[in-house]
Amino acid sequence: MVVAGAIPIHLLAKERKEVYQKKGQPGTRATKKEESREETLGRWQEEWDAAQKGQWTKRLIPRLGPWLGRSQGEVDFFLTQLLTGHGAFRAYLHKMGRARSPMCLHCGDAQDDACHTFFVCERWAGWRRAVEDELGRLQPETLVLKMIESDRNWKRVATFARAVLSEKRMELANQGPASHEGTSSSEED
Ligand SMILES: [Zn+2]
Repeated sequence: MVVAGAIPIHLLAKERKEVYQKKGQPGTRATKKEESREETLGRWQEEWDAAQKGQWTKRLIPRLGPWLGRSQGEVDFFLTQLLTGHGAFRAYLHKMGRARSPMCLHCGDAQDDACHTFFVCERWAGWRRAVEDELGRLQPETLVLKMIESDRNWKRVATFARAVLSEKRMELANQGPASHEGTSSSEED
């Protein structure tokens, strides 16, 4: 929901009720709606702070305000994988029962996840460095802030994500059915 920028339904319902209750009170309808929306976002932030799920996304998007208030930036298929950690990552596929091991195929790191892929693994260092030459050092805590700074930055990161994840998807597919179904023992240890 956070990645998609979709306000959870229970918060919207509460907001609607409050807007209704403000009927007859002074102030324009638009102002009241605006106030209620601000309160909604405050509540959403509180829930996000307390959430146990989505730790990786929380690391990337700790504050909802700048993320939801950005003036540009479409979240495509590949950025969604970067931002959620759900995608062409063996740690994720392993959790889903679709890879025999969560380890990185390239460096043997214990967890091939979004953090490892985009910020650490040597396999993608060349591409990562090319982005860093333009945007400065990439870190999970500052990546999204850099992205929403400008359309150019956003697109640069989106291109990076697409390139890396397209390649990873092919690599994972080339390992044959073993990595996807976990039925064969032909995969590496
Ligand atoms: Zn690696």
